[in-house]
Amino acid sequence: MNYQIAVIPGDGIGPEIVREACKVLDRVGEVYGHTFQYTEVLMGGVSIDAHGVPLTDEALETARKSDSVLLGAVGGDVGNSRWYDVAPNLRPEAGLLAIRKGLGLFANIRPAYLYNELADACPLKREIIGDGFDMVIMRELTGGLYFGERHTEEVDGVLQAVDTLVYNENEIRRIAVKAFDIAMKRKKHVTSVDKANVLDSSRLWRKVVEEVAKDYPEVTLSHMLVDNCAMQLVMNPGQFDVVLTENMFGDILSDEASMITGSIGMLSSASLNEGKFGLYEPSHGSAPDIAGKGIANPIATILSAAMMLSYSFDLDEESKAVENAVQQVLTEGYRTVDIMADGCSQVGTTQMGKLICERIHK
Ligand code: NAD
Repeated sequence: MNYQIAVIPGDGIGPEIVREACKVLDRVGEVYGHTFQYTEVLMGGVSIDAHGVPLTDEALETARKSDSVLLGAVGGDVGNSRWYDVAPNLRPEAGLLAIRKGLGLFANIRPAYLYNELADACPLKREIIGDGFDMVIMRELTGGLYFGERHTEEVDGVLQAVDTLVYNENEIRRIAVKAFDIAMKRKKHVTSVDKANVLDSSRLWRKVVEEVAKDYPEVTLSHMLVDNCAMQLVMNPGQFDVVLTENMFGDILSDEASMITGSIGMLSSASLNEGKFGLYEPSHGSAPDIAGKGIANPIATILSAAMMLSYSFDLDEESKAVENAVQQVLTEGYRTVDIMADGCSQVGTTQMGKLICERIHK
């Protein structure tokens, strides 16, 4: 098959890590007989330099016409960059909001997987880690508290602020369907997280998720209150497979879940629309402090490309081959500087990419 991928290298370490992910995709193409064609798209600081805005309409259109999007990261040194002496909607990160909105990406998926080899970086005790954990947090991205009506007013001489949490059943249904679809590719367990003991929006969430669950008899559904979930993530992370939740709860829980993996350079993510289209990017930023040094860890971006193979192209075997190659490189003791440990061999960005490519086979 032939796939068209819009590639957004972005700023800082973005171009370095995206280059390695494309090499990995090319290697997958070679081994499995696919062609990946890349069209480069400017976004972030590089787009501001070229066009005065973080994302042009043309760039968005190129992304929209592709089969999926691979993104490095955007942004510069916030305290010390000409890109930040402008209105917020003209800063590099505004490109991220614009592209997510423009492409209708409403489902954000962040896996939290603990590699045995990196268990020392996990802040949890060994007895809690047990056999490790392997979950994805699926967060609704375009509704809820962050998008509801808000205002601040003075009432009887006292300042008062209001934020509104709104969800309609269609918004809940479409993300629930995504979560169950993804659970079908995994361990077939969805934990839906809400605050149904207090919030109406959560009671509707729970009702709709239960309706969707009826179409997936193979998937086990359980419900968990968000405060309990925050505790369970650090008490028994191994219990989770797919964690489905609304925007603000997901914002907080996905950061907590990433933290317990202990290594920011390893965390992939995907944002999906109604269909198979998605934008894939590492969870970390553009790391301006190490840009151009050739030391950035490309694994988060490579694993994001692996998610693209599975979620957008249904190439599950190919995706697994990439994940296995990453696992093998770690088992053999190769590390970039951010995950370096005693007795391991330190490698740079390009060499890490090459080692992973060499281990991709049928
Ligand atoms: P960051 O994630 O870029 O960096 C935090 C720390 O982790 C730094 O010390 C960095 O060197 C290190 N790090 C990050 N990724 C790494 C990798 N792959 N390999 C090795 N080390 C890595 O976060 P920050 O410093 O808060 O933000 C830097 C810039 O990135 C800012 O402009 C911010 O707005 C932007 N940002 C962009 C995105 C995105 O594009 N999606 C996300 C977060 C932050």
